[in-house]
Parts: sequence; structure tokens; C-alpha cells
Amino acid sequence: MTYTITNWDRATFKRCRRAWDFGSRARGNYEPITPPRAFDLEEALRYALTVYYFPAMWDWSRGIVRPIALEGFGKSMRTQRERYEAHRPFSPAEERDWAEALEHGDALLRGYFRWAQSVDHFETLHVEMDVDVNIPDPVIRGVGLVTPDGDTMYYRDRLELLVVDDADQFWVVTHRLAEGGWAHLDQLVLDEEALAQCWACEEFYSKVTVAGTIHNELRIDVDPPPPPAVPDPAEAYAWPQRHTRRYDEFGPPPPPRPATEVVDQQTTEHFRRTRIARSRAEVEGFGKQLAALAQDITDPMLRVYPTPSWAHCGRCPYRSPCIAMNEGADWPGVLAASYRDRGPERIERGRIGGSTGTWFVR
Ligand code: SF4
Repeated sequence: MTYTITNWDRATFKRCRRAWDFGSRARGNYEPITPPRAFDLEEALRYALTVYYFPAMWDWSRGIVRPIALEGFGKSMRTQRERYEAHRPFSPAEERDWAEALEHGDALLRGYFRWAQSVDHFETLHVEMDVDVNIPDPVIRGVGLVTPDGDTMYYRDRLELLVVDDADQFWVVTHRLAEGGWAHLDQLVLDEEALAQCWACEEFYSKVTVAGTIHNELRIDVDPPPPPAVPDPAEAYAWPQRHTRRYDEFGPPPPPRPATEVVDQQTTEHFRRTRIARSRAEVEGFGKQLAALAQDITDPMLRVYPTPSWAHCGRCPYRSPCIAMNEGADWPGVLAASYRDRGPERIERGRIGGSTGTWFVR
């Protein structure tokens, strides 16, 4: 038997054990029947970027890929709307917000694609790829961690975007929306989601050493970039031809870094890209921290308690049963009325990026 801890389990358990207890597949496995929000602009923008950076299309002219990615954005917005309206019709305010977000997101992406073409000096290898890796025992080298019942423990993460740059260095790229200004640099350095992907990638591809993380930010709190005064000429879509390479055709791994540090940053009014080289100690230390967390999660004596915080309770999907529990009210009744068992994990057929272990190098 196996026990799988997902990136959601890892992040949510650290943030609030009660929220994790409600939602984890190994625990309550509850999900709200009605989507908590009418739509999520970030989800749609991420989907468009996944299409844009899809490795199988990376050597296609950007003039062909840009409209496909924009269509992906619109499709995601429409799908989210349909999902929500299956339970509740849009209010006039939601209708207006959705239309504004559709227009804003489309203009933002058009501006991003123009900018990205001048700064994307890499090849894409994977997008949205699920990786399952053994969690190493923190004490006994070369042995995988097991639960108290003897089940092998796995960690599952999703590589948002893995690229290789002109110097044959591998980087994990993450996209984030910026609101109210750019993220503080410390916030990016401390980004554990990105670090977890570095570690999981190296565990999955034992020959790969990840140089670090690239944080790609898009600002949504300012007017989107205006369209160019004259349409882009054909040369604006020029794109170098690329050839498939095997792993052993790449150069040597980067020399070990003694410290994590920002090595490059490019900023415009709407977009910012920050490259952070990660130290060996930081990437390898993540595995030990994950093992400790896995042992806590599967501890038969685990204590579950809430961790209320202004930073995360506002967006928590389990807020109503949590409040009912705090007030000694009928929280099982709240769960029964508004939540459902999400059932076993389903394979998302046709998901772009897909779940695959194939080494896809151009
Ligand atoms: S509302 Fe806050 S305290 Fe309650 S479960 Fe959610 S995150 Fe935890």
C-alpha cells in the first residue's frame, strides 16, 4: 500500500491543520458543492500561459501560438462560468466583473506575449506535469519513508514549467499575479511552492540539477498594456528553430551554490521576471523538512486544531463549518448541506501538460 502527500496537503497542513483535515483525500475529503467564487482570473491566465509554453509547440511561430493561448484563456473563463452557473446564476455584479476580467486578461496576455518574446531565452521541457516521488527517510540514507502502518510514502507535486536556458541550466518557472505592487523579494526567495518543485524535479529526474527558480509576475491592478499603434510586422513573430536533444547532450550541471540569491531581474510596468539561484543546502534541506512533515501528518497521535489568520481565512473554502465548530453549532449539518465527498482522485483526461514521466527535450 502507499500513502501520497500532495503539494496541497503540504501547504495546507502547514497553514491550518483544520482546513487540511476537512479537505485532504486521506481525511474528510470534502469540497464545497458550489464553487466558492464565480470565477478565478488567475486560473484562466495560468491556463493560457500553460498553452503558450507547451513544449510540443515551442518551436512553432509565436504568431500561431498566441491566438491558441488567447483562445485557451477565453475557454477557461467560460468553463469556470458554466461550472458556477450549474449551481447559481450570475448576479448582475458577477456578470459585469466577469466581462471586465475577460477583457482585462485578454489585453494583459497580448502585452505579455509581446514582452515575453524578447526575454524568453530558454526552451520549455514540461508544463503542468505531475511527479510522484518517494519521500526519503531523514535518518537512514537510501531508504524511503513509511507510515506507522508500513505504507510507502510518496510526495506528489505538479511542475508548473520546467525550462533549460542558453547555458543548459534547468530552471523551475512559476507564474503569479501581482496586486498592489510587486511581491517583496523576500517573498519570492521564501516561495516554498517553487522550492518544492525544484526538489521534486530532482528526485524524479535523478540526473537533473535544478539551478533555481524563475518567478514570472503579471500585474493585474493597473490598466493592461495598450495595443501597439501599428500591428506587429511578420518579423516580430520570428522564432529560432529548435532541435530535439537527449539529456546527455546537455552541458554539465551548475557548480553548487553556497547561498540562495537573486541573480537577475527584468521589470516593466506590467511584468517582472526574477531569477533566483538556489543553494544545494536549501534544495536538499527541503527533503528533510518534507520528511518531518510527512511523519507529523501520519502520526496516529496527530492533533488537529485551527490556525485562524487574516491572511488565509478569507479565502478558505471551509470557513463555514470551521466557524460552526468554533461556536459549538451543528457543523456536521453545515457539511452535509453545503459540501460533498469529492470521491477518489480522477484522471483529468486531455489536461494540457498531462501526467507523464516522459523526458521531453527539444
Ligand atoms: S477558516 Fe481559517 S481557521 Fe478555519 S479552517 Fe479555514 S483556514 Fe483554518
